[in-house]
Amino acid sequence: MITCRELTEFLGRYVEDDLSQEERKTFDRHLSMCRSCRAYLDSYRTTIEMGHSAFSGLDAPVPDDVPEELVAGILAARRASR
Ligand SMILES: [Zn+2]
Repeated sequence: MITCRELTEFLGRYVEDDLSQEERKTFDRHLSMCRSCRAYLDSYRTTIEMGHSAFSGLDAPVPDDVPEELVAGILAARRASR
């Protein structure tokens, strides 16, 4: 089982439907067990759909129950993908 932080490394490719079957299974398994990541994924998708560059800056709303560590992981992943 991957951690929340590891999940963030897949997140960008997940929403673009660009994961391998194996990665996607791992991702889905974590999501099915982790409410925080489901809440995060929802807000991530909403942000993209609204046409904002996702979480540029930190002013995008993040659900209250998303752990700090998850947010930090997402930001790190975004920096790494530039
Ligand atoms: Zn999680």
